[in-house]
Order: sequence, then C-alpha cells, then structure tokens
Amino acid sequence: MCAASRTASNSDPAALAGGLVGPAPSSAESAKQRTGTRPGHGKSAVDSPTSGLSIDETATLAVSVDASPISWQEEMKHAFRDPNALCETLRLPEEFRRSAANVAADFPLFAPRPFVARMRAGDVHDPLLRQVLPLPAEHEMVAGFTTDPVADLAAQATPGVIRKYDGRALLVTTGACAVHCRYCFRRHFPYAEAPRGAAEWHQTLGQLAADPGLEELIFSGGDPWTLRDDQWTTLLDSATKLQQLRRIRVHTRLPVVIPQRVTRELLDSLRSCQLPIVIVLHINHAAEIDGAVAQAIEQLRSTRAQLLNQAVLLRGVNDTVESLVELSHRLLDVGVMPYYLHQLDRVAGAAHFEVPEAQARTLWSQMQRRLPGYAVPRWVRDEPGGASKRWLS
Ligand code: SF4
Repeated sequence: MCAASRTASNSDPAALAGGLVGPAPSSAESAKQRTGTRPGHGKSAVDSPTSGLSIDETATLAVSVDASPISWQEEMKHAFRDPNALCETLRLPEEFRRSAANVAADFPLFAPRPFVARMRAGDVHDPLLRQVLPLPAEHEMVAGFTTDPVADLAAQATPGVIRKYDGRALLVTTGACAVHCRYCFRRHFPYAEAPRGAAEWHQTLGQLAADPGLEELIFSGGDPWTLRDDQWTTLLDSATKLQQLRRIRVHTRLPVVIPQRVTRELLDSLRSCQLPIVIVLHINHAAEIDGAVAQAIEQLRSTRAQLLNQAVLLRGVNDTVESLVELSHRLLDVGVMPYYLHQLDRVAGAAHFEVPEAQARTLWSQMQRRLPGYAVPRWVRDEPGGASKRWLS
C-alpha cells in the first residue's frame, strides 16, 4: 500500500503532481461506466452503524459527475476537496455535510472525480464513498489505535527509507496521493522529512547501492505515480542502476482512482525498464473497477509487469462475503491477482473501520469455500516489529 499526505498542513497533491492549470471539466458521464456488482446497496430507513449519524432513506440515483477524459493532472486539480461540494453532488443528507466539513479540517478530503463518478447519489452506504467521506467517528479516541500503527518510524533506515523485511527497501517517494483514504495507516507519517527530487533520491539510492543484500526496491509513498512522468522515469532509471536489484515494486492507487494516469510516457518507462516490475494496486471493492480502470489495467499488463492487488478489510465497505468474492472475481476478470486482504492497521482515527478478527476469520473461510485457491487473497496483519506480514488464515 502507498500512503498519502494526509494532514491539513501537508502539501496539496495537485501542486505536487505538477500544478497544471486547465479548464474545469465540462461533460457529464454517469455511473454507466460501472461494471462491478454493488452488494449492500438500496438500503432504506436504516441507522448507519459506523458513522454515528442516522439517515432516513437511501436512494440509488446515478451520480452525475464529470468523468470526461482530461489529463490526470487536471483531474488532480479538479478533485473534490470541499466536503460540501461532494455531499451536494452526491445529494447526501445535511447532517453529513456538516460533520464532513468539521472532520475534514483535521484530515482533508481529497476525492478525484473519476472515482466519485462510480458512487451512487443519495447512498451514504456507498462502499466507495465510505472510503473517502470524513465522519465524526474519526474523532473518537480508541485505545490501541495510534499514529504509527505498523512502526514505520522505528523501521526507517534513513528518512523516507523503510527497511522492515530482508532483501527489501521501501522508498517513500512523495507524500502526495490521488485520494485520501480515511483509514490510511500513514495518515500521520512525517512526509516532509522524506527525500524529494532528483538530488535527494540520488543520494538515497547511493546509500542503498552499498547494500549487497538488497533484492527489491519498493516505490511507495504517498503514491509514487503522483510524480510527473519525467520525474518518475528519472527515478526508475536511477534505481535500475543498482546492480544487486532483482526487481522493482510499485505501490499505487492512481490507475484506479484516475485511470488517465496510465499515460504513454508511463507505459514507455515500464516497458524500457531492465528489471521485472511488480505493480501492486489497491482496490477494496468491485465497484472501483469500471471500464476505464479495466482499460488502464490492460495497458499496464501490456508492459509485462505483474499486477497484484491488496485490499483492506473495512467495516461498511467490503465486510460481506458477497463483496469479497465479487472483488476477487472482478480482479481476475481484468487480469489482477488478489494478493493481500489486510486486517486494518490500527491507526488513530480509523477504529470505526475495523472488522473484528473473529468475524474476519469467518468471512475469509466463507470466501475460501466459494473461490478457487488462486482467487483467495492472503489474509494478513502487519505487526509492528514483525519479520514479515503475519498470515492470519
Ligand atoms: S491510496 Fe489511500 S491508503 Fe494508499 S496511500 Fe493514499 S491515502 Fe493511503
């Protein structure tokens, strides 16, 4: 998983992505692009168990959000940052608008339009909306939920370089992200200290070159593909000069939330890379994969990169066996292997997303019965100080 710049004081992702100016999106394209099934929709007259808010009714209206094919950097620029605007577009009840604005003051909303276009208007239970909508529950202090749940800070070899597991180093390439997931385990990470720009990366890679045991370099963040194509290509080229490396891994959510990010230049950089590349996407629900995302994934596959997916088990998002099974099916439909199903990292502000381990075990067992073995992701927990992820299944 990558991790975003998630505090109010951090840099604007759009600025970090190049800060281009451009016309506001113009034409509307609704949820017709959606191809995944939508378990859990169409509820009515229910209480929202995870939000602390109560609603009268949910509708299943299509969202009319501009999803025209403008550049990915313009999509970053025009992403929803104002909770009022998002709630108004999605026709959410007034109480959600007020609370979202209040909570987003601590951890800003950032939701790009192509992602929002896959949500259903009037449905506060929409599994995509749940991932980005600030809720009052984020302000609850819950014992065991901390600002550094997986001990990233203790594992930093140098600022921005995390060495947890043998043979691997994770480079925090940027603090920027193309979506702010409310459950993000790095929402409190000190991104400002990580190396930025060609000169600092060069120095960091020089230090890694001295480690003969290094086999795999992982580009994470934030999201490494928020870098401009020229920056990304420079970084990738520099990394491939490390003689001992056997492969490169990229953790990104950008092709999912803004599929236009898969540009010709990005594809060229992957095709010309001398090392095998593994791309780990982050998709939590089948409804995230619409036609444009499927096409972006197909283009990435055409580079011969291996595509894997990691999902986080999230209360109110994908905590039903139907949802998890459909996610695996949909991933396989588009050529992505289900890789990890993460038990939630216990980050402060995200306790309302946690699925108790006993319930998760039941879900995983049911999933195992309904899917071929290769379609069942490894259910894991990232334990602070562990020598590897702990397999819970
Ligand atoms: S995509 Fe979501 S989980 Fe990944 S880094 Fe960005 S905010 Fe965190």
